[in-house]
Amino acid sequence: MQIAKTLDELRNARQQFNEPIGFVPTMGFLHPGHLSLVKRVRLECSSVVVSIFINPAQFGPQEDLVDYPRDMGKDLALLKACGVDLVWAPKPETMYPGGYQTWVEVDRVSKPLEGARRPRHFRGVATVVAKLFNAVQPQKAYFGQKDAQQAVVIRQMVKDLNFPIDIVVCPLIREIDGLAMSSRNVYLNSNQRQAASVLYRALKKGQSSYESGERNAKKLREVIIKEIDAEPLTHRDYVSVAHPDTLVELDIIDQDALMSMAVYIGKTCLIDNFLLRNGNWHTGQLTGEPEG
Ligand code: AMP
Repeated sequence: MQIAKTLDELRNARQQFNEPIGFVPTMGFLHPGHLSLVKRVRLECSSVVVSIFINPAQFGPQEDLVDYPRDMGKDLALLKACGVDLVWAPKPETMYPGGYQTWVEVDRVSKPLEGARRPRHFRGVATVVAKLFNAVQPQKAYFGQKDAQQAVVIRQMVKDLNFPIDIVVCPLIREIDGLAMSSRNVYLNSNQRQAASVLYRALKKGQSSYESGERNAKKLREVIIKEIDAEPLTHRDYVSVAHPDTLVELDIIDQDALMSMAVYIGKTCLIDNFLLRNGNWHTGQLTGEPEG
């Protein structure tokens, strides 16, 4: 496995690779959710490139950039074991040299949900992903359904800017009690960690309500909210039942829908979602005990 830290190292390494090249952008502190994307690339592509870059541009001033968890040594060992060909770990000054002033803004789909709480977040995400795509030039790039809005924003950017890259969105990987795996779960203490499974339970309630015939989106939001509010350690940011491509809130669910939420437990904001597409629910995959 090669490790590139400069653009020259990346470009030299990239030239030797067979195509298609599959790419997984990450911020490191890898868990089985990230590794599921990497394993999928290994199956579907000739070469696997993973980036590890904690992107300052997607953190708000009050957010956890400084405290964001990191463990490069463990990440590299995990990626090597998955058969990754190249890890691209640029320095912040490579991605944002002094005097930096170019940004990618994806308009409407960046505004609701996560975008309402984190106003410049998706500008930071779209910009860094565009730059990573330009550097790595993959044929396919893999993202997790965990960050449903991020996947929508990236798809829109790729379409609008004519990137010749296929975007593949992979299932959400969960802990055994249903909590969506996230690098930020380490912030939870044991009481908070126990409380955190309420997000999954609440989505399940919403799903069962739909299965019993409820099609009124407001009613589904109410079912989900009731379950979350029953857990005293939670503080809701949003609960949404929206169109999965436009992210516009629905009145009636007549076809596809994205049920999503952001919930604070203490200072940690957790997100989760279930996706309804063509009559099938995509609720993610429960794993066994987490690694490590
Ligand atoms: P991050 O390091 O949080 O920026 O995540 C890197 C990629 O891994 C993104 O495409 C995420 O959506 C994806 N990812 C993170 N957590 C999970 C998970 N639990 N299941 C599936 N994909 C995930």
